Amino acid sequence: ALDIGHDLGRALLNARAFERERRLVDELRELDSYKSRLVATLAHELKNPLTSILGHTEILGASPDLGAAERTSVGAVERGAARMQRLVDDLLTLAHAGDPHTPFTPTPVDLHAAVLEAVDLLRVTVNHKALDVVVEAPEDSIKVLAEPDGVEQILSNLISNATKYTPEGGRVTVRLTPMKRYVRLEVSDTGLGISPRDQEQLFSEFFRSTNPEAVALPGTGLGLAIVQRIVERHRGRIHFTSELGEGTTFTVTLPRA
Ligand code: ADP
Repeated sequence: ALDIGHDLGRALLNARAFERERRLVDELRELDSYKSRLVATLAHELKNPLTSILGHTEILGASPDLGAAERTSVGAVERGAARMQRLVDDLLTLAHAGDPHTPFTPTPVDLHAAVLEAVDLLRVTVNHKALDVVVEAPEDSIKVLAEPDGVEQILSNLISNATKYTPEGGRVTVRLTPMKRYVRLEVSDTGLGISPRDQEQLFSEFFRSTNPEAVALPGTGLGLAIVQRIVERHRGRIHFTSELGEGTTFTVTLPRA
């Protein structure tokens, strides 16, 4: 009888501890959701004034009466506002992708065509840095069941990072491998690589590398957080391997259509 009483007491304590933990998890979830909504609201409110600032700097910049000093100032305002706009857009995309209430509406998307389009959009950087961009796909049409905007975000972020963090004359390879239920997408570069310490935080919001060569390039530190959330929405997987000074490969799997 003593033993039974002892066991019951232990079970009760465990149940209480479990209940406390569950409540803490709920509270943290609620706080996280509040934070996301706050950030999304702020970003949304900043969108209109920013559009207005950019519109007016364009008008000012086109004025023929502008002196050299004024022109420099208008240029600085325009660059600052454009940077803020990228940040606001990324914040809104991140909030949208991470919100469990956002409806998930996948359709068949031709991943190969989407890759070619994403590469084409980066042509200016690619030519400017004399990068060698190779797309490898065993078939013309490789379809995934995904949200078209999501696919575009994944590709533009991963491929633009590969071109951004690869010095002149380097190579970027995008490889598609259809498997039974998934399609594997690999984006490899021969660029700066990522140190083991930075690797631990790579998907965190606002994280930017501690590598001075990488920080010198413009960015918000939100791209990979966005990619990770979109991949998770699709019940896909994402991981990477990287060697400092050698290069990086990101691998994503998305459900096959
Ligand atoms: P951003 O590029 O805007 O800084 P990301 O979230 O896309 O933000 O990337 C976070 C950081 O990860 C970058 O600042 C960069 O240091 C590192 N990184 C991402 N992709 C690569 C890559 N292909 N090669 C080297 N570093 C990378």
